[in-house]
Amino acid sequence: MSEHNQDKHKARQQKVKEQVDAKIEQAQEEKGILQVITGNGKGKSTSGFGTVARCVGHGMNAAVVQFIKGMWECGERNLLERAGVPFAVMKTGFTWETQNRETDTQAAQATWQQAKQWLRDEDIDLVLLDELTYMVSYDYLDLDEVIEALENRPAMQSVIITGRGAHRRLTELADTVSEVRNVKHAFEAGIKAQKGFDF
Ligand code: ATP
Ligand code: MG
Repeated sequence: MSEHNQDKHKARQQKVKEQVDAKIEQAQEEKGILQVITGNGKGKSTSGFGTVARCVGHGMNAAVVQFIKGMWECGERNLLERAGVPFAVMKTGFTWETQNRETDTQAAQATWQQAKQWLRDEDIDLVLLDELTYMVSYDYLDLDEVIEALENRPAMQSVIITGRGAHRRLTELADTVSEVRNVKHAFEAGIKAQKGFDF
């Protein structure tokens, strides 16, 4: 790099630093964050569990609610329950397509009762509501009730909602929204879901 370019680069970086510093200075509010992780790409639930691990790693308390019982055992659950993280897993054969509306609704409601308790508990720093979006899309849970519970949760409690097709009211309410876009997925090339990677 020529001396002239070096100087230009330095000046530009200095400006970036000033802007970032100013933004950091402005961001002074302390509060629990509501995050929605949606989209059709892979990485929504793993991202949610990553934040749970981050939270627990600081000696803080997290709880996990899984609104869809996977076809396979959940690797994260095996690890995190040993670390003292409570799990509520929807008890039904329900996977992706709706099977029996009545039993699915009952199962979703029962799981939601547990979620609501955690959403009122000041001792819980983070609640992961994995695959909650489908419960709203299928009308298994009442969206108004979900929003009310989220709005009235303890001020310092963070919540992560994952799942495709997040309802607009959920993304509007959220502080942070990430959409994971599918570029390609191994499954489309005929590769089976792999233990220790996909579950
Ligand atoms: P992960 O749990 O791996 O982070 P996810 O939560 O983003 O995935 P879900 O929509 O909940 O994705 O789907 C769960 C399962 O489906 C996982 O085994 C995942 O690998 C697989 N999957 C995710 N996205 C796709 C996709 N675009 N095509 C095919 N399978 C997918
Ligand atoms: Mg998922």
